[in-house]
Amino acid sequence: MAGTQRILVLGGGVGGIVVANDLRKRLPASHEIILVNREETFVFAPSLLWLLVGARRPEQISRPLRRLVRRGVTVTTGEIERIDAARREVVVGGRTLSADYIVIALGAATSGGAIPGLVDGGHDLYSLTGAVAFRNGLASMEHGRIAILTAAPAYRCPAAPYEAAMLVEAACRARRVREHVQVDMFTAEPGPMGVAGPQVSAAVRQMVEGKGIHYRPEHQVTLVDPAARSIQFSNGAAAPYDMLGFVPPHHVAPVVSTSGLCAEGGWIEVDRHTLETRFPGIHAIGDVNSIPLKLGKPLPKAGVFAHFEAQVVAKNIARAITGRGDAARFTGFGECFIETGGGKAGFGKGNFYAEPLPTVDVHAPSRRWHIGKVLLEQTWLHGWV
Ligand SMILES: Cc1cc2nc3c(=O)[nH]c(=O)nc-3n(C[C@H](O)[C@H](O)[C@H](O)COP(=O)(O)OP(=O)(O)OC[C@H]3O[C@@H](n4cnc5c(N)ncnc54)[C@H](O)[C@@H]3O)c2cc1C
Repeated sequence: MAGTQRILVLGGGVGGIVVANDLRKRLPASHEIILVNREETFVFAPSLLWLLVGARRPEQISRPLRRLVRRGVTVTTGEIERIDAARREVVVGGRTLSADYIVIALGAATSGGAIPGLVDGGHDLYSLTGAVAFRNGLASMEHGRIAILTAAPAYRCPAAPYEAAMLVEAACRARRVREHVQVDMFTAEPGPMGVAGPQVSAAVRQMVEGKGIHYRPEHQVTLVDPAARSIQFSNGAAAPYDMLGFVPPHHVAPVVSTSGLCAEGGWIEVDRHTLETRFPGIHAIGDVNSIPLKLGKPLPKAGVFAHFEAQVVAKNIARAITGRGDAARFTGFGECFIETGGGKAGFGKGNFYAEPLPTVDVHAPSRRWHIGKVLLEQTWLHGWV
């Protein structure tokens, strides 16, 4: 067995929390696990969608990361400023930390400011502050037009904006204002969840349109005019709105793009089964990596993949240190609940590494899958952090 080893986990979101917890269970206490995150608090992102419609409050979906300390994980709050993969060193708030293993789980950065007027004219549905502001506006809306918009075709959790639109629609019905409120959905992408295949995409589209939501795919926003409350698109169309909720464009963070681990202009390249980068001992999991699929699109960015990838990496690092256990491989399996409102959800699961196309089954909305999503949330908020 190796002498005392230090594992640095960069990022305290879904992937970072799972890998830190799992490693702690597998490794003797003499080995050091340090988790570094910008914020002190973890927010369970899938629950932001319930928060939008007043079904959760911020404190119900947030947990302090320091709770991991009692399990034997060292938690450091700070900005990771530099990653030196060759030297296995990381600079956090001006301090250099060296490691035997590094797991990069820094997620995706977003830039609503890249689209003129978007931030001033709407609410970022993917941030806690944006979701709270949207919730406050929705709670007092009696009539008018609500627009849900994806500002770029690729983003975390391909189901989330579609769920947001359906939950918002259901909330208007519950408040008995639906007949006075129009719900529009504009997406940069050609259809819902394209990577899951044409059948899943058509099924989700049907769910959305079946609720009377006006769905407009292939509408790439170019400009929002907050004063005129108007959205302009690259195809020449324009749309008025009274309230706008948007998914911002996503991109790789500068600290990651300067690490020497990324494909040109892109995300971190990894082995699709071990999540190891080209530097031995340095792994990248979750939204920060990009895994190409045969169909020409990358594996979607989703918590479920961050979670399963984290478990594979924890097992393999623990094995390398202790010499115990079998080697693990990430198989591309994923699953997701799709909230449709009114206490129901659909459910999809499948193998995203299947070739030539992912094989994904989708189950019709029912109460059962909604309860499944609530159980997942509760497991996260009470079990993982
Ligand atoms: C509204 C919404 C709904 C979603 N619903 C689902 C769902 O139902 N199912 C599903 O599978 N996925 C869902 N997702 C996606 C899921 O949340 C992400 O894919 C998942 O969180 C990715 O995990 P990660 O560990 O890669 O990154 P993250 O969870 O984003 O964690 C990255 C962490 O790194 C920190 N960080 C970044 N840069 C730095 C730095 N320089 N210094 C210090 N810290 C830094 C960040 O602050 C963050 O805490 C949803 C996302 C949203 C926004």
